[in-house]
This record gives sequence, C-alpha cells and structure tokens, in this order.
Amino acid sequence: MKAVHYLSFLLGLCILVQAKVLAKEEVNIHLSKKADTWYVTYTTNTLTDRIAFISNPDDARTKRWKSTNDEFEVVYDNKQEFIQKKDGKAFSRVQLTLTPTYTHLPKSYAPFAPYSDGGALIHTGRLFACMNRCDEDANGGQLQVEVEDNTHIIANGKIYQQSANWKGYDDGQYVYIGRQSPIEEDTFIAVVDANLPEKIKIPLNQSLPKIMAFFESHLGKYSSNVKPMLFASYSNTSGQDIQGGVLPNQVFIHWNMNNLNERLKDEDFITATLWTFAHEAAHFYQNSPLLGKDKSESWIHEGNAEWLAAIALRELYPEISESFIAKKWDEAKANCIDVLISYRLADAADKGKYRPYYQCGMIIHSIIDKKTRELSQGKYTIFDVWKDFKNTNRKAGKNNAEYFWAATDKYIPSDVKQGLKQLIKDRLASPSRHIDHLEAL
Ligand SMILES: [Zn+2]
Repeated sequence: MKAVHYLSFLLGLCILVQAKVLAKEEVNIHLSKKADTWYVTYTTNTLTDRIAFISNPDDARTKRWKSTNDEFEVVYDNKQEFIQKKDGKAFSRVQLTLTPTYTHLPKSYAPFAPYSDGGALIHTGRLFACMNRCDEDANGGQLQVEVEDNTHIIANGKIYQQSANWKGYDDGQYVYIGRQSPIEEDTFIAVVDANLPEKIKIPLNQSLPKIMAFFESHLGKYSSNVKPMLFASYSNTSGQDIQGGVLPNQVFIHWNMNNLNERLKDEDFITATLWTFAHEAAHFYQNSPLLGKDKSESWIHEGNAEWLAAIALRELYPEISESFIAKKWDEAKANCIDVLISYRLADAADKGKYRPYYQCGMIIHSIIDKKTRELSQGKYTIFDVWKDFKNTNRKAGKNNAEYFWAATDKYIPSDVKQGLKQLIKDRLASPSRHIDHLEAL
C-alpha cells in the first residue's frame, strides 16, 4: 500500500511540475471587438522571440493581420507564419487588428464568416499560437473574449454578454460575435442571418427546430452538455463560395455570393441546404463520439446521416422532398457503382476518397431501413437499429462495423446482411447487379 501511495505522490508531483512548465510557455489569446475593429492580443508569461501559429495553411495573415504597433511584423518563413519584432528583440505582448472578411484558406475553415449585422463567426483555431515555434503536440490555448455592451458572444453552447473565458483545443470552434438575437431553445442555439433572402431564411428558421426535435424524438437526447449551435451567415458580395462544415457541437454554412437570389430560383437549392443541416443534425443525435476514428468505417455514420436526412425531410416536407430524395438516391447509387467498379469501399479512405462512404453508405442504410420496416411490418426502422448500436457501443466502449452488424441481427435477414458486408469488403464482379439483387431480396 505504501509503495502505491508513494508512486501516486510522485506522479502527482510530475503532473504539477509539467503543468507549471506548460503554463509558463503558454500563449494567452485575448480577442476583442470595439466598434467595427477586431483585435487579437497575445501575451506570454516569459519573453519570446516570435509567436508561431498552430495552423498555417498559407501566408494570408501577412496581408490580413496588422500590428497596432509599427515595431512588429507578421512574416511567412518556411511555410509558417510568425509575429516578431522588426529589431529581433524579445517581447511578451503584441496586439494586431484582423480583417474580418470571408477568405478562402486551403484545406481550412475560413477565419471569418461575416453576418449582415456587422457581426461574424470567427474561427478560434486560426488564433491558436505558441512561443517561438509550435511542436507537433501543440494544442489550443487559453482564450479571453471581450465585446461592447450591445454585442454578445455565442460559444460553448452558451450566450455570453461582455466577456467569456475558456481553454480552446484541437480545431477550436466558431464563435459568433455580433448583435443578432439567436433562436434559443432547450435543444439548440441558432443564428440564421437576418438578411438572408426570405426564400431560404424562412425554411431554415422553421425547419431547424423541427429537425432537431424529430431526431431527438427518434434517437434520444443529445448527450453532450454543450448545446448544439447552428450558424447560417451571409455576405452579399462578389464571389460564388458556399462553405459549410462541422466542429464539435456546431454546424455552420456561409454563403459568400452576390447571386444567391438567382440560385434560389432552383427549388432544389433550398432542399439541398435543408438536407445539409439535417445530415449534420443527425450526427448530433447519433451520439457516438468514437465514430470516425477508423476512416474506412465512415459508411456507418456518414451513410446513416445521409439516410436520416432523407427520412427527416420526407417526414417534415413530403411535398418538396420526395422527388429530391429519389434524385439523391439515384445519384448515390450510380456514383457508388462507379467507385466499386474500380476499388473496394473499404479501400476508399486509403485513397483519400470520402464521398463513396456517403453515397454507398446511404444505399446501405436505406436498404437496412427498408428491410427492417418490411420484416417488422412497420414496427421498427433504422432508428431502432441505430439505438441498439449506440447501446452496444456504450457497453463496449468502442464503435466499429462489428458492433453495427451485431445490432442489425434482429432487424434484417442474414442474407441481406451478408450481401451488404460484401458490398463493403469485396471486389464485386458487377456492383450494379449486386445492389439490384440486395434491393430485391
Ligand atoms: Zn457527416
């Protein structure tokens, strides 16, 4: 017993010492917005020669970040951006102003997604920094955000007035800083740009609560104690970009274009937008945090989210979505077949291809859903399969195809299960015939 105590004492000491070292080298980030100016201020506990960034997709900071003090410069050196003093001397504080417009960064989320009210989403991952240089294991940073009285901050599933503090990590999150009142419900917070054309704004405002409630009723409550955040922002400016994505507990889409009204003439554009939100909302309620670790198993959660989006739209908007779902399904099947002619679905991730997991995955989950409904005469659906899968995951502490297939056992015939497994693992002589056969089983 004594030895154990001694060991845990030593361990405690090690952690304490390490924490002290980390704190000493930490770069604190202070973000503020005064009038229309965005400031970021970095402070360090000891002097540093440079401040480096964790994420360096290109040299955009050298053009968009300006020091408030002439003695500093932002430089690009060996594919990394740094802040340093022009005279090379060490420092412990530097303040910069940021350009809060939308810009495309290679393979990264945009640093700003502006809203029409003058507010914006800012990506905190863009701000994470280190003293001198960032090691491979550099992760996040301590953030403090301050705004004026008439402005609020939305982050971490909360609405903050005046100021907020937290430790960011991994890819960070989008933080809304602005004046638009959010839609706040028990299950989520959403900010849909007030200046979006009515044709898209009304469906979004109406459908987001419905989609979230629909999934909660079928899959149970969202498990994280951070409320999901949904953001839709719009810049009516020259450009044709639409950027959407997800970060933990949030989904966002930004339209950076001056022809949105033109695009909205196509009814499918609206349905496709609702589909995107429904897909991401489905991920919230799939509630399997370890899914996605093994990319080759992405057909499980991505295919499921695609099919759940179809089910949600069919339920909530039958009059607009039926033909759209049919079109999506045909497209998914055709593209899936094309891929399976060249390589196995299981190998797509190794080739850097992820689209097949959505498309073949949607076919797989739609077939499971159909067979489940048939066999149970409508009593069970894909939602029941997924709930069972979630429960086995929790007990087993991991998620993978083995557990998923085990969860389907009581819902679908074994020949369907075998056929679906072959669709993932085998090189098929005729993928098209194989899928047709599975549908007909
Ligand atoms: Zn997804």
